Amino acid sequence: ATPVSVMVGSGKAAELGVLFGGGRALEQLHRVDVVALDKTGTLTAGRPTLTALHLSPTAAWTESEVLALAASAEAGSDHPIAHALLTAAQERELALTAATGLVTEAGYGLTAQVGGHRVQLGAEQYMARLGLDTSSWGAALAELGQQAATPVFVAVDGQPAALLGVSDPLKPGSREAVAELHRQGYRVMMVTGDSQATARAIAAQVGLDPDREVRAEVLPADKAAAVEDLQAQGLKVAMVGDGINDAPALARADVGVALGTGTDVAAQTADVLLMSGDLRGVPNAAALSAATLRNIR
Ligand code: ADP
Ligand code: MG
Repeated sequence: ATPVSVMVGSGKAAELGVLFGGGRALEQLHRVDVVALDKTGTLTAGRPTLTALHLSPTAAWTESEVLALAASAEAGSDHPIAHALLTAAQERELALTAATGLVTEAGYGLTAQVGGHRVQLGAEQYMARLGLDTSSWGAALAELGQQAATPVFVAVDGQPAALLGVSDPLKPGSREAVAELHRQGYRVMMVTGDSQATARAIAAQVGLDPDREVRAEVLPADKAAAVEDLQAQGLKVAMVGDGINDAPALARADVGVALGTGTDVAAQTADVLLMSGDLRGVPNAAALSAATLRNIR
């Protein structure tokens, strides 16, 4: 992948808000076999809200206390989950405490000290990495998965105190974009750091086969490797994403497609930039690529 430098294509491309970074991108997009889509911020709005809170029956904390600790710990993070928890705490008018010693682990979660307590938040794998037992949370986890909510454990002083669910609604055009890409003959996949259950539920909502087309629990550092795996199978890959953690995968893909609503890092790494966050820009861009090639020949 090469960075977006010049804008090419017809006036139609500009009209559709599609910027091609040179003739190569315009030519290559039509030739890919697989379109791999990031989930958070690409298929979904990227603005999750808190929708569930399962308190441990043995927790020494109330729901409000756990949420206040969690939001306080997330105050220094710019992850969408942090935004969801801070908004929820604000809506409930909970008082936050300044956190210290924040350590974030990309793709896992974070740890911070809040008012003398060690607060650790994140995915099930993060708890496992910390050596914390979540085996009694199976039913709550399954429920969140069915709701397509992302599970976020909150451990206080080394004890899982609650399991939160944050939900990120689909963007309006996502399902239609996937259907159109399928009509155009592309294989469409999802690559995400989110849990298997949540990823599968979202996949089903947008019309992707959860058994075949979902790569979940992929660490940010491994998204590019997921693209390489497909390329190793002889497939040409377009990767579509919006976040900093998508940038290496966009660079590795045969064609990297960034959403203009995402981070600058993603945009700078991409071959194609979609000015709007609407995923229907992807099949539109593919159609332009196909039409341009027909004109060239
Ligand atoms: P995505 O691919 O959906 O953007 P990430 O790779 O950023 O996801 O994160 C993967 C998972 O790690 C999240 O679904 C969440 O469970 C956990 N996680 C990461 N960062 C945080 C955070 N700041 N707070 C809580 N959980 C987090
Ligand atoms: Mg994203």
